[in-house]
Amino acid sequence: MLFVICGGVWAVYPVVFSISIFCGMFHCTVTALLSIFTIASYCLASFKSAGAPPGIRWGSYPMVGKNDLENYTFCTYCSKPKPPRAHHCRSCKTCVIDMDHHCRNCVGASNHQAFVIFLISVVTSCSYAAIMTIYASYLIWPPLEFPNVSSYGQMGSKKVLMEIITSVASSAFFLSARGIILVYLAFASLSVNAGIAVLLCQQLSLIYEGNTYLSHISSPTDIHGEKGLRNLVRFFGCPYPLSRLLLGYTNTGKSQNNSGSKLL
Ligand SMILES: [Zn+2]
Ligand SMILES: [Zn+2]
Repeated sequence: MLFVICGGVWAVYPVVFSISIFCGMFHCTVTALLSIFTIASYCLASFKSAGAPPGIRWGSYPMVGKNDLENYTFCTYCSKPKPPRAHHCRSCKTCVIDMDHHCRNCVGASNHQAFVIFLISVVTSCSYAAIMTIYASYLIWPPLEFPNVSSYGQMGSKKVLMEIITSVASSAFFLSARGIILVYLAFASLSVNAGIAVLLCQQLSLIYEGNTYLSHISSPTDIHGEKGLRNLVRFFGCPYPLSRLLLGYTNTGKSQNNSGSKLL
């Protein structure tokens, strides 16, 4: 990890600053903001409690009010009632509300939002790193040679493509150490980005469906909460004007569709 950070700073910064001071300062600001955002969301997702169920009085009839334990089941590990939408985590040895999964820390109702924001910031950071490393590689890449460029008109597209690939591959032998590290970082950030982006899409689609990963596995057809854009807006705690705009827009779309179908 330290190699990637130091390599990235050493390989990209001199190239970006060579374009202009403004580009360099802009790059410094963006990387600092993305780093702070990623580290802060990682710490929140890793160290915040996942969401233990609230303590509830239980026992014989006089202690428990009517309907107090409605839809509750009994957790044999904790030896106490388990609320609906809670799962017992054997690693944490406790029940967790809306448990999604366990990796280092449990991800549940309290830190699920931080986990998804962490995934978004990783995807954004990796995309930015990939763009900057590819752009810096392009700037310092050795000049390409095309010996048969005059006969490209008579050659097929396959042959032209092969000529270009051969020219790029042969020029890569003259790459400097900085260029080699840039190419490595570009491939590394693209591959990490692909993996995390798949995970993020899965998480967003589960939230859209009103489900968690564990609930989805245990009962794929059940919906455990609100569904659709409304659930995404609630999940991210969008400020009122934005949520009103998003939900108002979808409601308008729905009402227009309804009025359209009535007319038909
Ligand atoms: Zn339990
Ligand atoms: Zn756990």
